[in-house]
Amino acid sequence: MKDPQIIVALDVSTLADLRCLLAQINSINCRVKIGSELFTAVGPKSIEICHRTGFEVFLDLKFHDIPNTCAKSVSAAARWGVWMVNVHCSGGLGMMHAARDAIEGERYKPKLVGVTVLTSMTGISLREFGLDRPVKEQVDYLAEQAQAAGLDGVVCSAQEANRLRKAYGPDFCLVTPGIRPVWSQPDDQMRTMTPKDAIASGSDYLVIGRPITKSVSPASTILRIVSEL
Ligand code: C5P
Repeated sequence: MKDPQIIVALDVSTLADLRCLLAQINSINCRVKIGSELFTAVGPKSIEICHRTGFEVFLDLKFHDIPNTCAKSVSAAARWGVWMVNVHCSGGLGMMHAARDAIEGERYKPKLVGVTVLTSMTGISLREFGLDRPVKEQVDYLAEQAQAAGLDGVVCSAQEANRLRKAYGPDFCLVTPGIRPVWSQPDDQMRTMTPKDAIASGSDYLVIGRPITKSVSPASTILRIVSEL
């Protein structure tokens, strides 16, 4: 069976909304992503419900902490049996190494990816943050560190996928949020790309939230996106 490339961002905050959303999508053509909104609201029960309904889970909690705490958090995620988990690359090489080692010590090993620069950020946001360098350079720098630390790949904008695919080869996993079909709204995403262009640029997995979850029929929206790929 084909590896589903769409990861639906389950950005809801109640169990009822979660169940309602899961009932409208199909694990044959997508995986799901649990982020801080849902996890903080309902906890690990959200993972159990997704697994029980047949969905593989990307636990998107973007860990960013001292190496020991980050490693323990990643281990806990592995024990929940999630398919993918992430850390912020800006937590540093030591933190990323600790996370990698923690997963190696677990029986079930999720894919471990690092967040480079959030897709809602621009060069201006980086300057506000005190970093006077273009987004592109910062993404390249963090992706290099992620690969050096043995991570499976990175979360980046699809606009950066082409470059990173060439630099890090076919096995480096590229997960791209900020995906917007031409017929959808950009919302707060800044560095966006269409699903088709994102795949053509080298993305492995497309994280898509509001264009699917806020649509009248999430299932038909997914089918429409799949047909456009
Ligand atoms: O609704 P939308 O498609 O913008 O949702 C994107 C999802 O991807 C959100 O859950 C957001 O937290 C997540 N994300 C992101 N940019 C990153 C990493 C994760 O937008 N760099």
